[in-house]
Amino acid sequence: MTKALVVYSGGQDSTTCLFWAKQKFDEVFAISFNYGQRHLVELSAAKKIAEQASVPLTIFNIDLLSSISHNSLTDQNMEVEFDQSDDSPPNTLVEGRNMIFLTYAAIFAKANSIHDIITGVGQADYSGYPDCRNEFILSLNQTLNLSMDYQYKIHTPLMWLDKTEIWKLADDLGIIDLIMYQTITCYHGVPGEGCGTCPSCKLRNRGLLNYLKSREDG
Ligand code: ZN
Repeated sequence: MTKALVVYSGGQDSTTCLFWAKQKFDEVFAISFNYGQRHLVELSAAKKIAEQASVPLTIFNIDLLSSISHNSLTDQNMEVEFDQSDDSPPNTLVEGRNMIFLTYAAIFAKANSIHDIITGVGQADYSGYPDCRNEFILSLNQTLNLSMDYQYKIHTPLMWLDKTEIWKLADDLGIIDLIMYQTITCYHGVPGEGCGTCPSCKLRNRGLLNYLKSREDG
């Protein structure tokens, strides 16, 4: 009986990973985090989808993360940056987020005799988030193994896929409608198609258009 744990947010990428994991492993668990994000509607989406997928979901409250550094995903007074003029990370970067998430995930995994952890990070559509890079994931994997004297395997099925390819994967997994209508990726917390104007919506919707077009072209 193989077991895996998915770091889950209710968004497009981690939902695709959730169903990817269900195909690869016998038993799948998920964890989500309340880290002080603006839109708790994301967590409601996560709960609803996990339930439909029959995946037990555990939610950890780590909202102190938002009080340490400023970013527009947790700070209500800060506007989401739309156009970046330089190479610096966008102000939606929550410093340290993926390291914290994966560390909690690893502790939870070991407590439940799970070795395989899945995260939806990727660097193909690299938007300046250092903790989405493959180099970081490989390094953290090694650190977690040493830290807990336990063999983890962090899987990143989306690492080298762009948004168009992620839509294709969702379609192959038979969940394209679920992704389109139930997941929340929008920085303004609007489900499905989203607000259409934030950087996350633009990336998601452009990928979908490209994918649907390539599917029509056959
Ligand atoms: Zn949006």
